[in-house]
Amino acid sequence: MQYQDFYGKKISTLGLGGLRFPTVDGDPNRIDRAAGQKVVDAAMQQGINVFDTAWSYQDGDSERFLGEALAKYPRESFLLGLSGVQTVFSGMSDVSQVIENAALFDAPKPLSAAERKTLQMAAGAFLKTMGVPCSGCRYCCGICPAGLEIPLLIKGYNEQNITGSTWKIGMLTETKGASACLSCGACLSRCPQKIDIPGVMKKIVEQQ
Ligand code: SF4
Ligand code: SF4
Repeated sequence: MQYQDFYGKKISTLGLGGLRFPTVDGDPNRIDRAAGQKVVDAAMQQGINVFDTAWSYQDGDSERFLGEALAKYPRESFLLGLSGVQTVFSGMSDVSQVIENAALFDAPKPLSAAERKTLQMAAGAFLKTMGVPCSGCRYCCGICPAGLEIPLLIKGYNEQNITGSTWKIGMLTETKGASACLSCGACLSRCPQKIDIPGVMKKIVEQQ
């Protein structure tokens, strides 16, 4: 694991993001404690010492679980909530993902100038086709007064525009459809991707 200095503390360049801990019965808000503990233990064993969580992750269960899972480790052996420093956070759901990602950070090999140029060109081409850059984090869910499944609607919108498929939008019921958006803007401050969600809802309605 590679480390960097952060105000005199040694922090790993790979951090564990607490958004995708393994769950019980597929419920994203009920974390499987035993499986999740293995993920946290594997992260510590791989030298990861930075963890990120927030109250909105997995409906508050991420914060609770991470506190439980890290309780057995000395407090000075890890850092919490350092989004914004030069650490790449990855939400890892099982031990194999932790080991695979940690291996990538053991010996990072910088890109050559030619590789960097190729990557930038590929990223530019990808961004043109990816549509609305919703990460599916669901920070906007639960506060929408219309009860919209916003990431699902955006996913359908993207699929329609990228593949031409319309059935996914069409299968959503009218009451849960984009036309129910009140344009209240309550979701805007929640979106880390700065997506104009009510604007996208309007576009979805226009395409239906
Ligand atoms: S703007 Fe629309 S999608 Fe956003 S919270 Fe309000 S009703 Fe929901
Ligand atoms: S619209 Fe924004 S807040 Fe909502 S799920 Fe997508 S990225 Fe997250």
